[in-house]
Amino acid sequence: MFDVYACLTDQHNPWLVALAGVICLFAAWTALSLTDRARAAVGRGRALWTAAGALATGGGIWATHFVAMLAFQPDMPIGYDLGVTALSVALAVGLTGAGLGVNLRGGLLPALGGGGLMGAAIGAMHYTGMAAVRAPATLSYDPRFVVASLIIGGAGAAAALALTSGPLTAGPLTAGPLTAGPLTGERGGLKRRVAAAGLLTAGICGLHFTAMAAVRLIPTEALLVPSTTAPTGLAAAVAGITMMILVLSLAGSIVDQRLADRAAREAARLRASETRFRQLADVTFEGIVIHAGKRILDVNRAMTRLLGRAPEDIIGRPVLDFVAPGHRKGLTHATPQEPREIALLHADGSLVDVEVLGEAIEHDGRPAWVVAVRDLRERKQAEERLRHMAHHDLLTQLPNRALFNDRLEQALAQAERDGGAVAVLCLDLDRFKAVNDLLGHHGGDALLQQAAQRLLRAANDQDTVARFSGDEFVVLQTRIAQPAGAEAAAKRMVAALGAPFDLDGQPILVGTSIGIALYPQDARSGEGLLRNADTALYRAKADGRGTYRFFEAEMDARLQERRRLERDLQQALFGEQLTVHFQPLGDCSTQAIVGFEALVRWNHPERGLVAPSDFIPVAEDTGLIVPLGEWVLREACREAARWPSSIRVAVNLSPVQFRHADLTERVVAILKDTGLPPERLELEVTEGVLIDDSARALSTLRALKNAGIRISLDDFGTGYSSLSYLQSFPFDKIKIDRSFIGNMPTNEDSRSIVRAIIALARSLRITVTAEGVETEEQLRLLRSEACNQVQGYLLGRPAPAGDVTARLAEPELAR
Ligand code: C2E
Ligand code: CA
Ligand code: CA
Repeated sequence: MFDVYACLTDQHNPWLVALAGVICLFAAWTALSLTDRARAAVGRGRALWTAAGALATGGGIWATHFVAMLAFQPDMPIGYDLGVTALSVALAVGLTGAGLGVNLRGGLLPALGGGGLMGAAIGAMHYTGMAAVRAPATLSYDPRFVVASLIIGGAGAAAALALTSGPLTAGPLTAGPLTAGPLTGERGGLKRRVAAAGLLTAGICGLHFTAMAAVRLIPTEALLVPSTTAPTGLAAAVAGITMMILVLSLAGSIVDQRLADRAAREAARLRASETRFRQLADVTFEGIVIHAGKRILDVNRAMTRLLGRAPEDIIGRPVLDFVAPGHRKGLTHATPQEPREIALLHADGSLVDVEVLGEAIEHDGRPAWVVAVRDLRERKQAEERLRHMAHHDLLTQLPNRALFNDRLEQALAQAERDGGAVAVLCLDLDRFKAVNDLLGHHGGDALLQQAAQRLLRAANDQDTVARFSGDEFVVLQTRIAQPAGAEAAAKRMVAALGAPFDLDGQPILVGTSIGIALYPQDARSGEGLLRNADTALYRAKADGRGTYRFFEAEMDARLQERRRLERDLQQALFGEQLTVHFQPLGDCSTQAIVGFEALVRWNHPERGLVAPSDFIPVAEDTGLIVPLGEWVLREACREAARWPSSIRVAVNLSPVQFRHADLTERVVAILKDTGLPPERLELEVTEGVLIDDSARALSTLRALKNAGIRISLDDFGTGYSSLSYLQSFPFDKIKIDRSFIGNMPTNEDSRSIVRAIIALARSLRITVTAEGVETEEQLRLLRSEACNQVQGYLLGRPAPAGDVTARLAEPELAR
């Protein structure tokens, strides 16, 4: 240590030593600054900064050494070999560059390694530089000092670099110089930089002066040294040039750092705005995709939800990977700038309906697309609901007429292609109207819903069961052998709807009738099939309901006939074609006339007289019975009002008339208009009135009875449960159906039945009339059973009103 100190004080010019120190400090500072710049840069920038650092630092080291050498003034002239000096500079620059390069790898170990290399640079420079010395002396070294000098140089440089080393933030992952990491100045702080510069300076100077202390110069006279430039001038020149290089490098590094700082601030600002933008993008409901060259660059959160994937599963993959295969066409080249509907592939394999709209943008300086993706699922569901509503019946959820017709047309087209058969089954509920009247709309709706369910169960899976309106259902059967398929289904449906329905705990029997038409034999068009199935349905109803019928050509003729009849009947009501005939009712024992039954007659202009049994059902089906019945009632009452007051008039009422709420009021009004006392009117009803809607019919009957009108139960014995009706309403009269009377003389059973009915009626104090009495024998038998009244051809056929008046005028009959 003393040697070093002595060497410094005894043999060195202190001013030049100071200058060397300043240069060294400067070089150290510059080395660290340029290292920072290199660290902040990437690629070529980094190489350039490293080279600049190597040049400035290596030069600085050499200048330090050279100025220090100039300060070394042993008592002999000293010269330098230029070539070796140049080599020493090259070594300084090269090894420093290597050291800086290693140090740039980041972390403590590269810093130590880089420092070691820099130590080697200083040492190599120094000892090569010393080899360039030309003096009249032999040069030798104390090896201990040599080792010490190298350790000092290496340790100083390593410590300096280690002090300023740290994790590398700038790198190839962060794009471009704009996004360089935080600055070393900020990270290490000024103090650390100063300390590092001091350490490096100490290393350089320490190495130099320790090495100098190791020098032993033994003078020899033989060696003459060519004198070079004067030491002070040379020192000034070297120092000046070096300082200039150093200052320029430093200035460059400072400017660069400023720029980098600003760029970093800009980058931070950009990042903040990007974050804001991302937050904004993430809260929108629409998915957002940025893609370029078909690959996805970025997505927002809504998009990850639409695809059911994490962003890292999406970014970097081709756009088309996420588009349903059927929708990829046309998307390959660009994203539509017009809104377009496509389907995306969700991670779970489902399809997601979306609307996409693209816009060209620039992303990181490259052309890209930003695509807004709107979730259409809710809208599609709403549309689907609407479509469903448009094609289905709201009450039963069955397909409606529109959808049925669609499927029918498709089925027919298909059948035409492959020669298959198609069946159309039309059905309605046999007693729907009555149930609807009895239970109200609520009950009717419940019945229709239950009926729809039963039909679906009875139908085949591929059949279409539709509801057209009211209780009108239609079934379409395809891809099944006919007529067997339709027949089997019809049987199942008749059975299914024939079982009692449970409506509010009330068992209700409804039943169904079915008409069937087949393609191609019955019709080739959908319209024709429906019409013919309807005709067959008519037939099924006429044949007693609760059954099915296949269409037959003659049904059509009969239906045409019936349609014509309907039309004609309508005209008959307004024309003069209807008249009322009257048939007498007489006392059984005396045969004295007690009343007349009004029976309507239709004198058709072409057909002649049409029997009521032919047109009353038509009038009932079309509702024409209501005006017709009222007209008969008015005619009958008008006639009867002119008869003797002991003679009553009987008028038939159809069950259909009972469904009209104001029946009682209308009857009372007619009585008032015609002046006929109510007790002279007998209204004849059949059990059908009570079957259809007993509650309402009963209340109407009571109202009529309360008005003073007499009520008769017509055609007694032909219905189902006749006796219970007798209990449910206090009828004034029972009319025993003529089928029993006709059989009485020959059939003991008929006689027993007639006897029983008469006995029952008597016990209930109800008058009994026997209908259809044609022979004296029948009359005798009825008399022996104590029947009250008789009616029939024996007493008189139905005759026009004029005949009645004439007959009533005959003295012996009008007793
Ligand atoms: P109904 O009420 O049982 O009427 C008696 C029917 O028996 C009448 O037939 C009558 O002509 C017929 N008749 C009477 N005596 C005899 C007889 O000794 N032997 C035979 N074989 N028949 C006899 P019509 O006039 O053809 O009427 C048939 C049915 O049409 C009536 O049966 C009645 O239910 C209905 N009807 C007739 N006129 C009206 C009407 O104005 N309103 C309603 N709602 N129905 C009517
Ligand atoms: Ca009658
Ligand atoms: Ca009758």
